[in-house]
Amino acid sequence: MGEYGVKIPFLNPAGAAKFVDHQVTKANDIIKTWQGEEIEGFGIIGAPLSKSSISHSGAALAPTTIRRALSAFTTYSIEDDVDIKDCWVFDLGDVTMHVTDIPLSQRRIEETITEILKEHQNFIPILLGGDHSVSAPSIKAFKKNKGTVGVIQFDAHHDLRNLQDGGTTNGTPFRTLLEDKVIEGKHLVQIGIRDFSNSKEYFMYGKENGVKIYTMKDVREKPIKSLLADAIQYLKPLVDVIYVSVDMDVVDQAHAPGCPAIGPGGMDSQSLLEGIAYLGEESYVKGIDIVEIDPTLDVRDMTSRLGAHVILQFLKGKRKSLDY
Ligand code: CA
Repeated sequence: MGEYGVKIPFLNPAGAAKFVDHQVTKANDIIKTWQGEEIEGFGIIGAPLSKSSISHSGAALAPTTIRRALSAFTTYSIEDDVDIKDCWVFDLGDVTMHVTDIPLSQRRIEETITEILKEHQNFIPILLGGDHSVSAPSIKAFKKNKGTVGVIQFDAHHDLRNLQDGGTTNGTPFRTLLEDKVIEGKHLVQIGIRDFSNSKEYFMYGKENGVKIYTMKDVREKPIKSLLADAIQYLKPLVDVIYVSVDMDVVDQAHAPGCPAIGPGGMDSQSLLEGIAYLGEESYVKGIDIVEIDPTLDVRDMTSRLGAHVILQFLKGKRKSLDY
């Protein structure tokens, strides 16, 4: 009888043969499965919830596709001559969503992040949605652990819809946070709000509550780094930490086709990435989420790949400022 486990040359038991080049570190190689150890730095958490979306959405599938997209890229930034191969990122897995109960699922996100932030003071979460409703519980968890939270929201939409008409959906996360007094209007900076994508009522609601709103016109007319420098300078005296929420639909439909709410006239992908790297350098920035990618609508995972680059640029910023 033959011995089990005898290696047959060139036969890869895992399936497809893989090209290995030992000079290259792939971005997914810096991801480590979390096994309960102390977290001094970054951790990915998936929040696969999209039943809370106003329109049809498969964004619950995005944590998987964004993670997978990391394997397509390396850890080296040629523009800054920075290699993030030592920026270890724990993968904490996904928050288990209830099959039908949306508020319960949102509470689970809040409780999970609250618990981890409490246990691991230096944890910098990278939350992968899901639709934009997942940001509200995540920011609530920040508030519980980190004091006054400032939010920089990249978005085509205000997400300030009233809660009476549909509960806590992906149209209401920032209204929820204002009404629950988790943040004040002046602690919220919205970037990339777009034409013909919002009603005047919600713009007025934002203005009346002191939300700082930069439209796409503002983004076009000012380099993204100086616009964000203004936002940071404005927020810093008011808050203890800054949380960055990236609704991928801030990006033009040509660059991010896999969003449920696509449209023209949005940000180009390079501006977003440059902005995220810049924000990563800022020590006040202690968490980020990436939401509203629906892999079932995407083209060749273009939008998940952009999501993966948001993670990499964020890590690059942190690596550059040695803030990790
Ligand atoms: Ca949004």
